[in-house]
Amino acid sequence: MTHIIAEPCIGTKDLSCVDVCPVDCIHPTKNASDGTTAQQLYIDPDTCIDCGLCVDECPVKAIFPQDELPEEWSKYIQINADYFKNKA
Ligand code: SF4
Repeated sequence: MTHIIAEPCIGTKDLSCVDVCPVDCIHPTKNASDGTTAQQLYIDPDTCIDCGLCVDECPVKAIFPQDELPEEWSKYIQINADYFKNKA
């Protein structure tokens, strides 16, 4: 299980979630090469420990536990995973 960042993050990328994540699995960070060009932030599903700390930090409520992700945003499960697959 993981947490997922969905559509409200697009164009927002507040980064508060990055600061609270204890395992640094939310990317890109501000100084990453794609920090300004990425459409949204993404959670690495292989590293997320499901602590939930990021959920309340998000000002636009874009982060959900995977099993509570609204159906309309289900494609973001793949979108988050793909970001890290393409990096590997
Ligand atoms: Fe990081 Fe916890 Fe959020 Fe997973 S649930 S992305 S480990 S802060």
